[in-house]
Amino acid sequence: MPELPEVETVVRGLRPRAQGKLIQRVEIRQAPTFGVIRGNLRSFRRALSGARISRITRRAKYILLDLEHPRRAGKSLTWVVHLGMTGQLYVCKPSAPRLKHTHLVVTLSSGEQLRYCDPRRFGKMLVVSRVDLPAFFARLGREPFGLSLQRFSRLFAERRAPVKNVLLNQNLLSGVGNIYANEALFVAGIHPATPAGRLKQDQLSRLFQAVRMVLREAINGQGSTVSDYRTAEGVPGSYQNHLRVYDREGEPCPRCGARIKRLVLVGRSAHFCPRCQPSVRGLHKRKERRLAGPG
Ligand SMILES: [Zn+2]
Repeated sequence: MPELPEVETVVRGLRPRAQGKLIQRVEIRQAPTFGVIRGNLRSFRRALSGARISRITRRAKYILLDLEHPRRAGKSLTWVVHLGMTGQLYVCKPSAPRLKHTHLVVTLSSGEQLRYCDPRRFGKMLVVSRVDLPAFFARLGREPFGLSLQRFSRLFAERRAPVKNVLLNQNLLSGVGNIYANEALFVAGIHPATPAGRLKQDQLSRLFQAVRMVLREAINGQGSTVSDYRTAEGVPGSYQNHLRVYDREGEPCPRCGARIKRLVLVGRSAHFCPRCQPSVRGLHKRKERRLAGPG
């Protein structure tokens, strides 16, 4: 599933080829699109047709395309796209062969096409009035690059949930998914099951740095392609080749050589090095007590 670095890569790739362009034609593939485009298809088409894409930005895992209608004064609209599990939003020449499961084809004033393809259809797109955007995103957590260490630390305070689950909680921190949560915990040397509230200040500080470093590295690598993710140019990312622990169960730890282990935390795989990411002492003690039994 695309996470913050993948969505940021798509946004950066779309900008030079779609920002500032007029939308000349909107082609919606009706039946299979049902579920991807939210709301009324006719009003969706009307909002896009003839609009200029004035700005392309990202909030969490959402791509935001601001629309301006040169001849239609009134409220400003934003076309919001979430890629879901397998969504691809990319620009190509009109002659490029259409991928199977292409739901939307938008012809731009440059002659190129902006296409949306999504085999599993967990993606969604809708048009939101710009004044309603803050309410639309009200429940989303903070951007990892937009908060201080102090605020970051506060997200974990007094929480009993495993640190990895707190990292994945989009209402607290937005954009970090399973891949980068695993990677950041490895870099910070923190066991994924550590209760969030038990993290010491030096661990929080290491985790804060690690999250940002891993996300930045991944953006530089154009994201990680573990299944369908493609950049806005339609090519796979490269960061999957640099992942340290994610999906590497049984392989040697890149730091110490111990075998990488996998553990399931609330339905999601956690990959970690048992030597570089020891579990907290309290957990060991509890286990020993349990093994010793009463008396
Ligand atoms: Zn290790």
